[in-house]
Amino acid sequence: MDRRVRRRRRQNADLSHRFKRLLNSLRRTNRRLRNEIAEYRRNEQELRFQAKLLATVSQAVLATDTSGAITYWSPSAERMFGWSAAEMIGAIGFHLVAGLPDLELIGAMRAAIGTGKSWEGEFMLRRRDGTVFPGYAAISPIFDEQNRRIGAVGVVSDITERKRDQQALEEANVRLQAANADLQLSHNLLHTIVNNLDDGLALIDSQRVIQVVNRQFARLFEMPPEHLPGTSCDDVCPAVAPIIARTLSGSVKSFERVSHLRPSGEVITLDVYGIPLCDASGTQRVVLRLVDVTERLQLEAIMRQNERLAASGRLAAAVVHEINTPLQSIQNYLYLLRSSSVEQSAAFLDLASSEITRVSTLLHRLLDLQRPGDRLIELIDSNAIIERVVLLLGSALRGCSIRVEQELAPDLPQFLGQRDALMQVLLNLLLNAIDAMPCGGTLRIVTRRALETIDQSTRWCVQIAVADSGPGIAFDLQERIFDPFFTTKPHGSGLGLAVSRQLVEQHGGSLRVQSIPGNGATFIVSLPIPEDA
Ligand code: ADP
Repeated sequence: MDRRVRRRRRQNADLSHRFKRLLNSLRRTNRRLRNEIAEYRRNEQELRFQAKLLATVSQAVLATDTSGAITYWSPSAERMFGWSAAEMIGAIGFHLVAGLPDLELIGAMRAAIGTGKSWEGEFMLRRRDGTVFPGYAAISPIFDEQNRRIGAVGVVSDITERKRDQQALEEANVRLQAANADLQLSHNLLHTIVNNLDDGLALIDSQRVIQVVNRQFARLFEMPPEHLPGTSCDDVCPAVAPIIARTLSGSVKSFERVSHLRPSGEVITLDVYGIPLCDASGTQRVVLRLVDVTERLQLEAIMRQNERLAASGRLAAAVVHEINTPLQSIQNYLYLLRSSSVEQSAAFLDLASSEITRVSTLLHRLLDLQRPGDRLIELIDSNAIIERVVLLLGSALRGCSIRVEQELAPDLPQFLGQRDALMQVLLNLLLNAIDAMPCGGTLRIVTRRALETIDQSTRWCVQIAVADSGPGIAFDLQERIFDPFFTTKPHGSGLGLAVSRQLVEQHGGSLRVQSIPGNGATFIVSLPIPEDA
């Protein structure tokens, strides 16, 4: 009994032991199964995610086996080509290429994939509806776990828009090149024109530094054109500095005639025009236009001389006429005297006497015209003479409501001359100005030191400008008013300006007029001063 019980107990213990082992084994299997199920779910999820990803991209994704038959056809491929996955699985991928296949291209692709490399290239592809579009394919080989090539995967992009943009870009490029060529042509044309102009042209910045010049500008200053950009205008031609400053400050066109001493020692006269130039950013610059008037002025001087000779002839004729008229009157009065009463005689004698006075006055003025300076030579202070003349004519000026403005340079050099003669000149000019402004106006007198070209030589001068705001003088009369006996006034003698010019020229100077009809007249007296003054 005991043995049987013991055996049974042993058997039970054995059974329990085997049961526990089985249970443990079952538990392990169960754990492994759970893990495998979890991993399967993870993989499934990942696959679903990748499929979703492939469905959303715009590129078509397809896979082929080694024979070129399609094994995968993504939803985006369906959208791009129009064929469903069911229609395409098993089809040959190259059938997607439109027209005759480019054997060279396909050969290159096969060679790359065959050696396990990726390949990229462009094809013309066709859709289910027969339309054709340019595509860009990136193809890579795929391998199994034993690294054997089992096919290829291709990603295809529709590059219709890229091609269109590329073509538009190319067309724009062609247009740009054509526009560039036009621009270059215009630039060359302008360059040729500007460089062949007789006028000197330069672009000057706000610091008075030269930026660009044409050939004539460089020629005027006897410098190579390439040396001028970057140079200060003050170094090249100091006389133009005030014109540039004036143009910049007022943003208005300005003009001045200046003299310039060239490096070769030649003095030239330049008409300088300053034209303001403001670009879109507000940067102020000046275009300088220089006209060499040296030769023209010399010719004009010669012509004036000729005209003066001709005027002398006219003067002789005029004098004969002017003297003959009162002489004939005197002759008539003398004739009438013979047969007239005592009272009448007195009247005729008075009339004859007044005619004689007229002849005498005329002869005196004519004498002024021809008489070489026989007046006292003394040191002349031009400003003092002006102040004296303005004082003398004070009541006449006030009577005509004429406002006098004076801008007299304080440090004008003195020079030797005939004080009375210069006073007479100024009196003539001021009296003419008063005549020109019977209803009032402005009389402006300015004195300054200036370089002037007189009789072909350039000299420092005291310049006196007398400007009025009267009606001005017609262009065709501006030289004739200096002819003796030329007058537009009912009781004028026409000798004031002729005598004045004569007196100024006796001082080695010049008298000229500047006037724009309707805008007043400016008479400019230039009197040379000694070199050391
Ligand atoms: P007169 O004053 O006797 O006429 P002038 O020789 O002084 O002689 O002047 C000649 C002419 O010049 C004048 O008649 C006038 O036509 C013109 N003239 C001179 N000065 C002026 C002026 N300031 N404004 C307009 N015309 C002028």
